[in-house]
Amino acid sequence: MTPFIGITGSYDYNSSMAYLRDGYYEAVEKAGGIPVILLPLEDKTSIPNIIRRLDGVILTGGPDIDPVYFGEPPKLNLGRVCPRRDEFEIALARECIELKKPILGICRGMQIINVAFGGSVFQDIRAEIKGALKHLQDAPTWYGSHEIEITDLDSRLYGVTGVKKMKVNSYHHQSIKLVAPRFTVTAVSGDGIIEAIETVRRDIFCMGVQWHPEYMWQKDHFQFMIFKHFIDFIAG
Ligand code: MN
Repeated sequence: MTPFIGITGSYDYNSSMAYLRDGYYEAVEKAGGIPVILLPLEDKTSIPNIIRRLDGVILTGGPDIDPVYFGEPPKLNLGRVCPRRDEFEIALARECIELKKPILGICRGMQIINVAFGGSVFQDIRAEIKGALKHLQDAPTWYGSHEIEITDLDSRLYGVTGVKKMKVNSYHHQSIKLVAPRFTVTAVSGDGIIEAIETVRRDIFCMGVQWHPEYMWQKDHFQFMIFKHFIDFIAG
């Protein structure tokens, strides 16, 4: 059966609107899934019901994560945060694991997974990591601006791509600091910044990438394979 894939929507407080960029849902459709936008509901009691009806979840990119979720006060260079997405998505990630629903985290989505299970992020790469590369590219969105190295050859990520190095785009000014227990780093950039993680548990599918494959998949087959592998895994 064609899997239903929930994709978390963005939220704009100024216009009171939830929305989703087309790269995400078109990739899911192209890979053989039925995309469904997940709205950042304030009443979280519905989350178990939502997850039960879905076959998998994609956590999307977006603004910074409120450091309150990993026990830090907000530093000077913290960017915009979205409280209703933070709360909804952290609860969503935990429920997915609880119900063993496959989950793919993209950019902020990877960081949400990490924070939801006890990890943390650097609030601002520029201020906190000496010698960091440019992770907020000015190049076109589909362009791979920095290299990553897949460091874990037993990982799903390596299984999907089959290459040790590739170029990815980069739109993050936060990055993973402390990796959550039972997760492992699968890829890094040249400055040591964590670019992909996944769970070490073999009974669930939970992986995250720091870049944006939804901007790249039409031009880069490796990036399409991330979505395709996710949907194929679910479809069995
Ligand atoms: Mn990057």
